[in-house]
Amino acid sequence: MNYYSTNHLAPDASLEEAVIRGLAPDRGLYMPGTIARLPQAFFHALPTQSLQTIACRVADAFFGEDIPAGTLHELVNDTLNFPIPLVPVTDRIYSLELFHGPTLAFKDVGARFMARLLGYFIRKKELHREVNVLVATSGDTGSAVANGFLGVEGIRVCVLYPKGKVSAIQESQFATLGQNITALEVDGTFDDCQALVKSAFMDRELNDRLFLTSANSINVARFLPQAFYYFWAYAQLLQQHPQGAHELVICVPSGNFGNLTAGLIARRMGLPVKRFIAANNRNDVFYQYLQTGVYTPHPSIETLANAMDVGDPSNFARILDLYGHSHAAICADISGATYTDDAIAHTLHHTYATHHYLLDPHGACGFQALSDQLTHGQTGIFLETAHPAKFKATIDQTLGDAVLEIPDRLQAFMRGTKQSLPVSKRFEEFKEWLMER
Ligand SMILES: *Cc1c(COP(=O)(O)O)cnc(C)c1O
Repeated sequence: MNYYSTNHLAPDASLEEAVIRGLAPDRGLYMPGTIARLPQAFFHALPTQSLQTIACRVADAFFGEDIPAGTLHELVNDTLNFPIPLVPVTDRIYSLELFHGPTLAFKDVGARFMARLLGYFIRKKELHREVNVLVATSGDTGSAVANGFLGVEGIRVCVLYPKGKVSAIQESQFATLGQNITALEVDGTFDDCQALVKSAFMDRELNDRLFLTSANSINVARFLPQAFYYFWAYAQLLQQHPQGAHELVICVPSGNFGNLTAGLIARRMGLPVKRFIAANNRNDVFYQYLQTGVYTPHPSIETLANAMDVGDPSNFARILDLYGHSHAAICADISGATYTDDAIAHTLHHTYATHHYLLDPHGACGFQALSDQLTHGQTGIFLETAHPAKFKATIDQTLGDAVLEIPDRLQAFMRGTKQSLPVSKRFEEFKEWLMER
């Protein structure tokens, strides 16, 4: 299948080109050339299928032309080696718990798939040099990417993060790994880290010497696999509460809008979702766009749900593209919601007290939006995008420090030894280090 750029100024790309490039040369985002509707038989069979079986079928629709079925199914099964349960919170609101993977957040799905896909391309080409993945992180992306690529042959990952500006829990998830993962602790800000990565991609000498690529969230190999679990959520709802499937509303806590866009694609493939809600924190450019038709990016504002602190979401371009730039068409399928930190804290508290369900600050926006907007006869599913333990300080402050249990796999990270290399924010120094690898 070919991938086109949302800016329509770059030539179409093959899957391999789109994955290795990430961003199209015209700075647009790649979109799949066709979005195939899945047959009725697939939907009829859903209640009896496993997550892996469903995901393989959806993967066939995206990648079946480009990757042999056996290999593709291996990649999918290997990616999804953890459960994604649908858990009732109230009699009509369900949580899709996407936090049972290695780094306790939904980004594990896309990052693990991308790592395995890139590994496959490297093997197929018999490239006799390693691929270097460079990623700048302010916290969560680094852990999902580093753990996704951990131990994948032929790939080395370099995570750049700002010294003193990520939490100890976050740092432990990418700076303790060793093997093919190197963490660079940059004496600077997140913007300095990003600038180093950008300069590296633009440096001719470096690119002649090394095969460099990025693994950011706009990559089609991270973005499309997120459609898998929308079908799985629906399959579980059919099992648990079949009447609820008639009027289904799915709510997605959104920052860069990759997760929501993958849901919109699932709907295009025939998933019977009535409508979507995009739940925002105070970074609500999309919410404002829905109200006014005007898109006004702004610098990001720090909030309790910090993985959604995005002032200019990249996947907005994909949403516009999917709907032919029609504001009316977008509003017909998606509604918005926006919550302050006080509202988030209140929801965390209230949901725990009333329903004995412990949300994280991102899921809290999702749950609250369904509570506020579901109408009579509708059933809601929100994506619980991270485990509350990743936001321990917030949970302890809102609910007291006796509530939260830290999962074993997070404790294991926290026991690891930090192995990062301190570097300055000078590009020449970073380049020299890369050249010597
Ligand atoms: C990345 C992230 C989000 C935002 O997802 P997008 O696809 O960027 O909209 C929400 N919650 C958590 C916990 C995240 O890590």
